[in-house]
Amino acid sequence: MVTAVPGLAINLATLREQFDFRGSVEACARHGISAVAPWRDQLAKVGVTEVANILRDNGMTATGLCRGGMFTVMPDALDDNKRAVDEAVAIGAQCLVLVVGGLPKDSRDLPKARAMVAEGLAALLPHARAAGMPLAIEPLHPMYAPDRACVNTLSQALDLCDALGEGVGVVLDTYHLWWDPDLAAQIRRAGKGKRILAHHISDFRVPTRDLLNDRGMMGDGVIDFKAFRRMVEKAGYKGPQEVEIFSYEWWHRPGDEVLETCIDRYKRLCRATPR
Ligand code: ZN
Repeated sequence: MVTAVPGLAINLATLREQFDFRGSVEACARHGISAVAPWRDQLAKVGVTEVANILRDNGMTATGLCRGGMFTVMPDALDDNKRAVDEAVAIGAQCLVLVVGGLPKDSRDLPKARAMVAEGLAALLPHARAAGMPLAIEPLHPMYAPDRACVNTLSQALDLCDALGEGVGVVLDTYHLWWDPDLAAQIRRAGKGKRILAHHISDFRVPTRDLLNDRGMMGDGVIDFKAFRRMVEKAGYKGPQEVEIFSYEWWHRPGDEVLETCIDRYKRLCRATPR
């Protein structure tokens, strides 16, 4: 008998080295998890219809599709993002997660990159609205400003939401946002505007041994997950906490062990209130 783990979702990047797509979804189901976030490379490999079938057969909610964005660096960003919206609709995802892109090649003009992001979002939004697919801007830690996302604070992401209007919101990722002195006020602001679309969790290790792929399991770093979640719930968001760990360390461990550890750490360290 599987014990259900309500409130916990798994971003499938966490298990990408251990399982193929079907294997990762089935492993989550085996461990009582009923929400996952697939990636577009998985859709490309397995097929959108098959992904939707596998999710449905395993009773999985798709919290979000990862990812669209890259407005500053992809020549065909608008077309590609429209396809991402359509894919998110096809698998029944609750939002399309956007990593907006960093500096264009050979550019040092960060304000211009940020303007490109605003333009890219505005161009994409009508298609997303027509499809009924919320766009979820994920602010990334400033260390990723050069090459992945020049939207680096929650405040900045919410300013974009305010400028764009309906159909766009934010991802709150502990790894990216934990350090922000304005975090509490900005999470309140996000809640007030009904902008919170997802809550990702992973820990910030000291030292961080790799810029991209050393996200920590909750409890192995410096983040106070309960305090973060309290702010999120107080702001009105009750959706799942989604473990998103890109880590050479954890990719080398058996998938079942990773899931058992996620569940244990989630239960002990992340829930604002015991269920
Ligand atoms: Zn994230």
